[in-house]
Amino acid sequence: MRKITNYLTHSGRPSCIEEKDFRRFVIISVLGVFAGAVHLVLIPFFFSIGAVEMSAINVISVIAWGYSLLLNSRGEHANAIILICTEVWIHSVLAVIYLGLDVGFQHYLWAISALAILNTRLNFLYASLYSFSFILTFALLYQFCGDISYQYKFSEYVTVAHFINIMIAGIPFIISLTVIRFISVTQEEIMNKQASLDSLTGLYNRRMATEVALKTMQQASRKGEPVSIALGDIDYFKRINDTFGHAEGDHVLREVALFFRSRLREADIISRWGGEEFLIVLPGVDGNSAYSKIDKLRQFFEKEVKVENDTNYAVQVSFGVVECTTGVTFEECLKRADDALYLSKENGRNKVTLVSAFMLK
Ligand code: GH3
Ligand code: MG
Ligand code: MG
Repeated sequence: MRKITNYLTHSGRPSCIEEKDFRRFVIISVLGVFAGAVHLVLIPFFFSIGAVEMSAINVISVIAWGYSLLLNSRGEHANAIILICTEVWIHSVLAVIYLGLDVGFQHYLWAISALAILNTRLNFLYASLYSFSFILTFALLYQFCGDISYQYKFSEYVTVAHFINIMIAGIPFIISLTVIRFISVTQEEIMNKQASLDSLTGLYNRRMATEVALKTMQQASRKGEPVSIALGDIDYFKRINDTFGHAEGDHVLREVALFFRSRLREADIISRWGGEEFLIVLPGVDGNSAYSKIDKLRQFFEKEVKVENDTNYAVQVSFGVVECTTGVTFEECLKRADDALYLSKENGRNKVTLVSAFMLK
């Protein structure tokens, strides 16, 4: 499904169709061509069975569907949907009046009631009233047209026609529900992503980092592999804000995120833990290796993270590193990493302090 929609949003879009409307444009186009073709075939068919009025009605229908395709190609999707619904509405009522309920053209009223409510360009009250009027029409046709019987050729095929009409009427219904399903799944994905990422840096936020770190620790404990965590805090960050302004401070935070992303492995979990603090989880890495890795990172930090307006200003960072031994909780590890970070600050900043795993016990 995603592949199809990606394809639809990236190629063959006419310039007058906005990207956000392209899916709507494609659905209406497919529906329009299909329905227009069916109505075209019905013109000679109705003529041949002696239903001349229905044949004439289908000529008007083909024109209406053609015009709705034109409106759609001009980007007037809402008008196209209104025209489609109105055409189907009139067509269904006249078909029942001339052919009776047994042929089943009334079922299209359900399909357009779904289509009308999906027309988000109409305000909700109008869309729901419009939609409701189709269902009301359906009910009224059963109240007042029950006595009309089919009087043309091929009466033995009326039940087949009824079956086909129900099946075709179901297609727009399924398309409508597919659109709703697709939109709600996409929205849910976007909301989940927003709820797990820090809006400034795009890194995991504290909530998501905790969740992922806990899972990583559980996996490592099962496999008997080590996990280390590093808590980093930018040195004298307040000074950066005070000297260069808050916007520059934000810029540095984004730079830090890019720096960590480019310098760490895909498997490492990087998060913005708070203000100018970052938590890094290193799966499969023991304390000593984590220390060397993070110390190398610290050395690159000063070279690569720059203040935009003063590239000579040395942005530095201090770290506290701990190996999370099996049986020690994430909170305890974090507490130890925080203590180690405090020691780095105490010892003059721009440092990494490792707390040995056995000290946790
Ligand atoms: P230390 O070396 O001891 O860590 O000193 P510091 O100045 O980095 O630490 P302090 O806790 O005194 O100040 C942190 C500052 O980070 C204060 C706060 O205004 C700033 N800060 C927190 N979040 C953001 C943010 O999202 N954007 C910007 N620009 N500043 C932030
Ligand atoms: Mg801090
Ligand atoms: Mg700081």
